[in-house]
Amino acid sequence: MTDSFSAKGFDFHCHIDLYPSPEQMIQSCEKERIVTFAVTTTPKAWPQNLRWTAQSRYVYAAIGLHPELVEERHDEIELLEEYMKETRLVGEVGLDGSPRYKKSWKLQIEVFIRALICAQNLGGRVISIHSRSAYNDVLKLLEEHTSPDRVLPVLHWFSGSKAATKKAVSLGCYFSINHKMLEYETGLELVRNIPTERLLTETDAPFTSKGDRKSIPADAIETAKYLAKVRGIPIQKFNKVLETNAHHVFSFAGIDYKNETKKEHYRNL
Ligand code: MN
Repeated sequence: MTDSFSAKGFDFHCHIDLYPSPEQMIQSCEKERIVTFAVTTTPKAWPQNLRWTAQSRYVYAAIGLHPELVEERHDEIELLEEYMKETRLVGEVGLDGSPRYKKSWKLQIEVFIRALICAQNLGGRVISIHSRSAYNDVLKLLEEHTSPDRVLPVLHWFSGSKAATKKAVSLGCYFSINHKMLEYETGLELVRNIPTERLLTETDAPFTSKGDRKSIPADAIETAKYLAKVRGIPIQKFNKVLETNAHHVFSFAGIDYKNETKKEHYRNL
């Protein structure tokens, strides 16, 4: 039996473990052929996520500690550092500067810096980063604590200024774009300013919706179509661009997503 692999779409930021049935969602990623970067929000969830995804051809788990959870879970940073030895994919980490999380701002900075230093020391790490109302600080810390030869940042749901976008590009960042970002002119303007070779698609599901249902990874296919339109690139050509970009990102983490049959990257790092 030939085990052919062809991706129909890419979801570079999805919370698979927050669906009622993560196993079912992983199966649907296999069926729909959506390569998925499955972020997590707490290091304690890592062993379970690793078990769920270990045999999946399409779904890759990442180790994370979400900035919104830092106030109550900052002591899990040591666990994050420990588990980062087991995977080259990291996220969701980052900073949230919105009023609701201001109280934990100092702790958020501490935790994010430790995550960055850990990734930098280990090298070959791809990090999916949250930067709501904090993009300047996120970029500053990335610049101070990481180098593009050891850490590849993917800015998730980025909403920075034109100058910040330019700076992020110079720091080697990629950008994962979801359909909610494309509902407003500011988001459309943002994606016009990102070089095509740095564009990726995401859903941030299940935190986003599509009509009256929660988003699913396969919704990234439509986002790609819309992005292609916004950038004035024929969809077939744009899909090739996305494939190349995904290849770069996964290769950075030592993962050949097209040929990997077992998740060897989880071991012997
Ligand atoms: Mn998220």
